[in-house]
Amino acid sequence: MPKPTLPLDGGCRCGQIRLRIKAQPLVTMACHCTGCQKMSASAFSLSAAIPTEGFEILSGEPVIGGLHSPDLNHYHCPHCKSWLFSRLVGVESFVNIRPTMLDDAQWFSPFVETYVSEKLPWATTPAVHSYEAFPPMEAYPGLIEAFAAQQ
Ligand SMILES: [Zn+2]
Ligand SMILES: [Zn+2]
Repeated sequence: MPKPTLPLDGGCRCGQIRLRIKAQPLVTMACHCTGCQKMSASAFSLSAAIPTEGFEILSGEPVIGGLHSPDLNHYHCPHCKSWLFSRLVGVESFVNIRPTMLDDAQWFSPFVETYVSEKLPWATTPAVHSYEAFPPMEAYPGLIEAFAAQQ
């Protein structure tokens, strides 16, 4: 995957929320889980893990949607309900943004895919690492290193 030119600006479908990315992704992912199929209204969700200090909301106030889980918060536009980004509760280091919210998502390609156990039979991605569910926590440092090495 080519490194995107920073900053990357983006926003929701209606434009009330505008956001900016000022740091390179740590890793990029596609998730085939049935929850992401519902949230994305599609076959899988896309994520770019962005260091929190490199992520900024420029305008608007995202609201929590999805499952309203105690462990994982999904943030949406209050007006058009676009699914903008997700944060693990208690994890301050990164934000998983949905790359198709960016004005230019042409640079994006998923490096890791998760929950292939739940994927639609035809749904394939160019990810080079596939996991039946989520990778174990101890796999992430190696995936981040491998992602940086292939850029
Ligand atoms: Zn909106
Ligand atoms: Zn998922």
